[in-house]
Amino acid sequence: MKRIPVAGNTDCLIGRTAIGLYRLGGGRCILIDNGDSSEYDALTAFLREEHLTPAGLIVSHAHLDHHGNSKRLREEFGIPLAMASGEAALISSKAALDRYTNYFGRSPEEQYSIDYLQMCPVDVIIGPEQTEFTLCGVPFPVYHLPGHSFDHIAVVTPDGVCFGGDVLLTDHALSYVKLPYCDHVGLDLESKEQIARLPFQHWIFSHRGIVDGNLTELSEKNCALIRRRLAELAALLETPMNRDQFYGACRRLLDMHCKSTDQLVRQERHLRPYLEQLVMDGTAVLEIGDHTVLFKHA
Ligand SMILES: [Zn+2]
Repeated sequence: MKRIPVAGNTDCLIGRTAIGLYRLGGGRCILIDNGDSSEYDALTAFLREEHLTPAGLIVSHAHLDHHGNSKRLREEFGIPLAMASGEAALISSKAALDRYTNYFGRSPEEQYSIDYLQMCPVDVIIGPEQTEFTLCGVPFPVYHLPGHSFDHIAVVTPDGVCFGGDVLLTDHALSYVKLPYCDHVGLDLESKEQIARLPFQHWIFSHRGIVDGNLTELSEKNCALIRRRLAELAALLETPMNRDQFYGACRRLLDMHCKSTDQLVRQERHLRPYLEQLVMDGTAVLEIGDHTVLFKHA
């Protein structure tokens, strides 16, 4: 794990994803996101080497590569976890996690994480109207930017560094991602535009790292990729097709890997919000055909 200074007391740790680190003084720190569960030993070893002890946790959203270590860190160090109310609800029970995550096609690691790692009480719940919350005596401005996930937040440290999580992909990630993941494509597009209007100069994004200056161009590139994909997927529906036929056509179009049932199930979770968006914005309509629902271009 590598530490890169960003501004003042705010650093960025680069592991599988980027983690924000705000130093409080006296060897204490607040972590913003905490990486994948496979990185627990690397993260805690790094903190020990740097003579840092976690005093609080903030999590941008409940995806496992961002909050994989929330439960263990919270318990081992006896520290509070802050999260938006919608994301806190998702990790509040096995029933919620089973509904929110893929039920079919779980790998053994995913099943273990759902049973033992992801479910976690949240100590500081950030409500939808809140524009600021306090953790360890430090005020953190917060922006609600849903879409990538149900109740994603961006958090600003006292140094004016905005931790944007997965709201935008960096140029590095844009170079290889075929279809950006969003829970809700329309809301994600709005959030991608909204973050570019925030008045900050230093940003940390999870995939992966630090961006300095104005976000307009990066936001436009992110939105353009999603809009291009929506148009390509809409064109497939010139031929009416059911949901599985649509997913198959998308995989062929985007040359997606089809090596395991797990992979196909995960892809369905990526593709479904795009199909829903086409219906939501009136590009596609539903009809009945051969005892099933068909989707077709309006
Ligand atoms: Zn995510």
